[in-house]
Amino acid sequence: MKSARLVEFGQPLRWEEKADPTPNDHEVLLEVISCGVCHSDLHLRDGYYQMGGTEKLFVKDRGVKLPLTPGHEVVGKIIKKGSKVSSVQEGDVKLVYPWIGCGACEECDLENPQLCSVPRSLGIYQDGGYSDRILVPDAKWLLDIYDLSPEYACSYACAGLTAYGALKKAIPLKKNDSLVIIGAGGLGMFASQLVGFLTEAKVIFLDLEGSRLEKLKELGFYTVNSSRSDIAEEVKKVSGSLGVSSVIDFVNNTTTSSLGFSLLKKNGKLISVGLFGGELKIPTPILSLRSLTIRGSYTGSPSELKELLQLVSKNKIRPVPVEIRNFREADFALNDLSSGKILGRVVLSEK
Ligand code: NAD
Ligand code: ZN
Repeated sequence: MKSARLVEFGQPLRWEEKADPTPNDHEVLLEVISCGVCHSDLHLRDGYYQMGGTEKLFVKDRGVKLPLTPGHEVVGKIIKKGSKVSSVQEGDVKLVYPWIGCGACEECDLENPQLCSVPRSLGIYQDGGYSDRILVPDAKWLLDIYDLSPEYACSYACAGLTAYGALKKAIPLKKNDSLVIIGAGGLGMFASQLVGFLTEAKVIFLDLEGSRLEKLKELGFYTVNSSRSDIAEEVKKVSGSLGVSSVIDFVNNTTTSSLGFSLLKKNGKLISVGLFGGELKIPTPILSLRSLTIRGSYTGSPSELKELLQLVSKNKIRPVPVEIRNFREADFALNDLSSGKILGRVVLSEK
């Protein structure tokens, strides 16, 4: 197998070749057809998250071990399976659910492996899909992609699922309510695809990049450039003077989180998703007096991913912008994502 691997934090990925693994028991070996490049892979390559000020949360202290093949948005074709696998066949094309847990804790029992306290996620704690092969520990983590093409389907495992999970936390919203979505990158673009199926509320996207906002404006969304000094006034032109009912923050740094919090009307919700890092300082009386909610959101469960794939396939939801690049360009793709050159998602493939 040939893989782009993280050998040292803060350094470029290295190309490695070794023999294909042999799947045992419940394991399945897939030939990777496509693998999305997520901003989380960039945090992983950096080796830390910003915690506000100069403090850092190091991924090695969260159990990430190197060398590691990143990539958690994977569609592949089954080429070999262990002796105990009967639910899938060689040749099947499947989406990998990457947010695998220990299988023994309370959250795993509740079928929320994404919230497992000893996570084993593929592409983070175990080798992922920046490779031509991926070994999946159990066939139960493989999902149908229905009539979706592998290049578009792969990013539902993270960007799509995370956007869906955040939107579900932001609703219910009435037609006259407003929802602000901060960040129109990969996650934001997937949210733009899905939001109309979950609410009729007015949706306002905020980003620093004018070109992304133009794309969203063409799709009928309200947009505000968050480099403006009068963001709150611009948002209120849409929401009305009381503020917005929900904010989803796909950036979630010090600036955007406090902006998001300040935009909420009474009883409003701030859904924190991004890992750009920072800290949110809030005056505690405001939280109680305005009856506000702040909650985090981390990816989603296998059943939510299945529900999402069915929703997308059944409703023929239009794809987000996807740029296909060769696996060997994984490191360049991360650099371009870091410098804001990507619209939508980059997907790695052999093509
Ligand atoms: P991306 O790089 O594709 O998009 C980020 C977007 O945020 C870009 O459009 C950028 O211009 C915009 N942005 C940056 N700073 C901004 C600011 N101050 N104001 C407004 N917009 C700003 O990244 P992505 O793949 O969409 O991921 C977004 C974040 O979410 C990353 O930190 C990623 O690690 C995290 N993430 C979290 C989860 C989760 O489950 N919580 C899952 C996946 C990704
Ligand atoms: Zn991701």
